[in-house]
Amino acid sequence: MAEWKDYGLVLRSREYREADRLVTLLTRKRGLLTGVARGVRKVQSKLAARVEPLTLGYYQLHQGRSSLATLLQGEALNHHRKLCSNPLLLAHAQYFCELCESSLPEHEPAVPVFSLLLQALTTLEAETQPARAARCFELNLLSLLGYRPVLDACLFCRGPGPYRFDPPSGGLVCSRCAASAEAFAVSGAAVAVMKRFLELGFYRLSVCRVPAVLSGEIHRVSRVLIAKAVGKTRFKSLEVLHSLTEGH
Ligand SMILES: [Zn+2]
Repeated sequence: MAEWKDYGLVLRSREYREADRLVTLLTRKRGLLTGVARGVRKVQSKLAARVEPLTLGYYQLHQGRSSLATLLQGEALNHHRKLCSNPLLLAHAQYFCELCESSLPEHEPAVPVFSLLLQALTTLEAETQPARAARCFELNLLSLLGYRPVLDACLFCRGPGPYRFDPPSGGLVCSRCAASAEAFAVSGAAVAVMKRFLELGFYRLSVCRVPAVLSGEIHRVSRVLIAKAVGKTRFKSLEVLHSLTEGH
């Protein structure tokens, strides 16, 4: 049984018992965890606003014998209000959170993922093309999870492009090497943008041109790798996101 303080970002929060909330937090030191915030649905609760989704806070937690931690107190540092007031940005932010929750084990330190997610949310707040930030986030998260695609040569012969992306091997394959039947073409422009995302992350992302067609090509690749890394392809937040962007 122990108490500790830690920075954490609220990935998700849902009603629990009569007056509590179950809060999924990505903390800096202890990674992903679920905590109970007691009494936060009562009118006078001070903690209530500090356990809203996308809040970055400094929390005091207690870990008892159960796998659930208890959130004792919190100080909100950033509510990411700009994201909460724009449905499209909010849907992207929720997708980033769902990807983290789905891909990380509980109670294991994940400092690089924590930093990446905070950077992604900050970038998203000023982003005019949220799809670009989403592709950049996906690839960098995949890299941290150990699924960084090799993009500078054919996976089999190390030769140059043009390339196809081969889902079973999770890499680029040149036209001379035999790829599987599921392999699909990836343009040189898409490869160049993916390399840029992996080398520079969110640094000066606003000057990186990523038209919708390129974003679509890159998403096809990242979806395959996410399925390998996370073990699933359906994300509730991604469905919400698609329902918002369809027809635009
Ligand atoms: Zn080859």
